[in-house]
Parts: sequence; C-alpha cells; structure tokens
Amino acid sequence: MSIIGKRKEEEEMEEIEIVIAGGGICGLATALALHRKGIKSVILERAECVRATGSAIGVFPNGWRALDQLGVGSDLRPTAVPLLGVRDVSLHNGKRRESTFSLTSVGEGRCLKRSDLVKALANHLPSGTIRFNSQIVSVELDPLSSYPILHLKDGTTIRAKVLIGCDGANSVIGDFLGLKPKKVFSSLAVRGLTEFANRHGLPIEGVRIRRGNTMSGGVPLNDHLLYWFLLHKWNPTDLAKVAHDPELIQKMAIETLIEHKFPAERIEIVKRCDLNSLSLTHLRYRSPWEVLLGNFRKGTVTVAGDAMHVMGPFLGQGGSAAMEDAVVLARCLAGKLGSKQKIEEALDEYIKERRMRLVWLSTQTYLVGSLLDTSSLIKKIFIMIFMALLFRNPTAHAKYDCGRL
Ligand SMILES: Cc1cc2nc3c(=O)[nH]c(=O)nc-3n(C[C@H](O)[C@H](O)[C@H](O)COP(=O)(O)OP(=O)(O)OC[C@H]3O[C@@H](n4cnc5c(N)ncnc54)[C@H](O)[C@@H]3O)c2cc1C
Repeated sequence: MSIIGKRKEEEEMEEIEIVIAGGGICGLATALALHRKGIKSVILERAECVRATGSAIGVFPNGWRALDQLGVGSDLRPTAVPLLGVRDVSLHNGKRRESTFSLTSVGEGRCLKRSDLVKALANHLPSGTIRFNSQIVSVELDPLSSYPILHLKDGTTIRAKVLIGCDGANSVIGDFLGLKPKKVFSSLAVRGLTEFANRHGLPIEGVRIRRGNTMSGGVPLNDHLLYWFLLHKWNPTDLAKVAHDPELIQKMAIETLIEHKFPAERIEIVKRCDLNSLSLTHLRYRSPWEVLLGNFRKGTVTVAGDAMHVMGPFLGQGGSAAMEDAVVLARCLAGKLGSKQKIEEALDEYIKERRMRLVWLSTQTYLVGSLLDTSSLIKKIFIMIFMALLFRNPTAHAKYDCGRL
C-alpha cells in the first residue's frame, strides 16, 4: 500500500478500547462480566443475529456459580429443568443393560434451551454492544503502538486496546496467537429439539443409550419439549452429501438409528423434530498438552471459551468453562486498563488462573471421548485405569468455583 493509502486507512481507522471477537456464549458472557465491572466493550459477531446452535445445554454447579456472578442465574432457573440423574442403557448382543447415575450429589445441574441462555446474556448488555455482520478476517499488531489492528470482511479496520478472541473452535484470534489447529474425534453430533403437541410422557431425566460407538440420548426440557442428540462415526462421503441440509441430516440420523436397532421411541423423536433446530457438529478438541503449553497471549490479545480450550461434549463443560473464563477475565482486567503493561499483566494473571483448571477439564474430557472413540478393548481398559487414577471423583470438576466477579 502507498504511503498516502496507508495514511488514509489510519485516518479512517476506528478506535475501540475492548473488542470481543464472537458473540456466542463466551463473547456474550465476557461482555456482560466486563459491563458488571463498569467496563465498556464491543462484540464483533459475524452472524446477523444472536444464534444458539446446538438446541440445549447442560449447566452444572460451576456454571451456575458463573451465571450468578453474571447476574442472570435467577432469570434462567425458572425454565431450566433440574438434572437429577442420567439413565445409561447399553445395547449389546441382543441384551439390554441399564444403570442410573444420580447427579444429586453433584449439586445444581440443569438443562436449558441455548436460546434462553444467549438471550439472557444478550438482554443484559447495554444497547449497541453487539455489532452483527462483522466478521474479523485478520489481526496484526500496530507497528507503532503494538496494539491489535483488526481487519473485517467489509473492509473496516479497527484498532483495539484489548482484543479477546471468543470466536469459537475455528478462531481467527487463535490463529493469530499461533495456537495449533484443533483435532477432531471421529464421532460427530446431531442435535435437535422435538416438540410434542401432547405430553411426551417421558420422565424428566437424562438418557444415554449406547450401541457400540453410537450413542443416542437426550433430556426433556419440559412436559412437551425434548432435547436429543445422536453421536456416531459417519462416513465422510455420507457427510459431504448431507452438508447443511436439515432434511438430509434428519434422514441420515433416522437411518443410523434404524440400522443400529435403537428403540422405536428414539427414532420417532428424530422423525418429529423441528428441522430448524437441527445441527450437525464435528467434535473438536484442543489436546490437554496444548492447553498446558499453548501461548494464550500476544501483546494485549488473548482468547477465551472454545477458541482457547474447545473440548468434546462428554462432560457437558465447554460452555460453563467459557462462562468461568468470562468472570475471571473481567475480574483480572478491572482497574488495569491504564497502560499496555498493566493490561498484559492482567491477561497473564487471567491465563495463569485458568490454565490448570482447563488442563484438568480437557484431560478428563479427552479420556472420556477417547473411551467412546476407540473400539479396542485393550485401549479401553488402559483409559479406564488412567481415569480411575486421575479422577477418583469423576464429577469433582463441577464443584469448581470461579470466584466473585
Ligand atoms: C454436541 C455438543 C454438546 C455440548 N454440550 C454442552 C453442554 O451440555 N454443556 C456445556 O457447558 N457445553 C456443551 N458443549 C460445549 C459448548 O457448546 C461450547 O463450549 C460453547 O458453545 C462455546 O462457546 P463459545 O462462545 O466459546 O464459542 P461458539 O459458541 O462457537 O461462539 C463463537 C461465536 O463467534 C462467532 N465468530 C466466529 N468466527 C468469527 C469471526 N472471524 N468474526 C466474528 N465472529 C466470529 C460465531 O459466529 C459464534 O457466534 C457442547 C458442545 C457440543 C459440540
């Protein structure tokens, strides 16, 4: 670019103190946490509105603590169904084995619609905080000030004092930090909601029905509405065919359930689902050793949520961990925006506080995911021994307290 062009770009460059990349659970929670501390921020979200891919989400005590700090817990509890237990069913060689896993000792576990969660977070933000249709395509450091400069798809350029990447598993900010690309488990997840005109009559409990490495499950969100999921290793050529077509995703899910002889009621649930709620997701993860060693800060740029520590869904903790990040990050940044050095120290404090919590969560999730992913009996035994040694209390992670905002 010519000197004149460069000068013109600098003149037109917008200055924003704190930019949050991405308006998913993490971005919204981070903006809200900062707002509660009296700090203004702007979320740049590539979509045209607040979206809630994935239908529903389980939130355990650690997540409720974070939501209470954010001041939205009491808004959400009335529509969040308590999760008292999970019924595990194993279908193998024509036999059905059932066990129930009580969650009462874990503390407050609830399942709620994702749309309720993101709306509650977004509704508490000052108007103008979220800028939709704002896709960040690249980031660089200003050679003079070393503050980040963001380039958006529409040609806009923004200079920020702080940039927080909450842009999910395929994070542009993570790429800028040099974080390694995420890995994928071989299973994928289809998720959806099914509304019953009459009561569905199912008990309010979580269900996981497994045949081999295929798992179908769900939770009733009320007497009429059911959240369901299906985890399966689909053939890549089948996936290419269904792409993002909800009708084809539904057809693929039904065929999988029929082929693997799942109970008729599971098939019926998928047949009656709301096609608009359907999503097909790769199960990505950042390996525990990358979480342990990853560089999560460059200058005044950092990451949070899936951009930092995407993990499989096997513990139901990715979203709650993102909300914990938000609380800790806002607490660390409060009162430290005076100079670049202070901001960097605050971000280092945030990363230090989060890192080992996330290493343990990622390790446990990785082991549970690997257990489901492998068909080798020897590998399964090895993983189970490892888990028993490292995680004597497998639900201890839910007792974590991210502290006060
Ligand atoms: C099958 C499945 C089940 C799960 N179940 C649970 C559960 O029960 N409990 C739980 O706590 N967690 C669960 N999780 C994990 C949870 O969904 C994620 O951890 C959580 O959604 C992460 O939120 P996020 O805001 O970090 O990322 P995302 O939700 O991915 O949000 C990222 C946002 O950034 C935007 N964005 C991306 N790139 C850009 C860009 N370049 N410019 C601007 N905007 C951008 C996107 O549009 C999006 O809005 C599950 C995950 C899966 C896959």
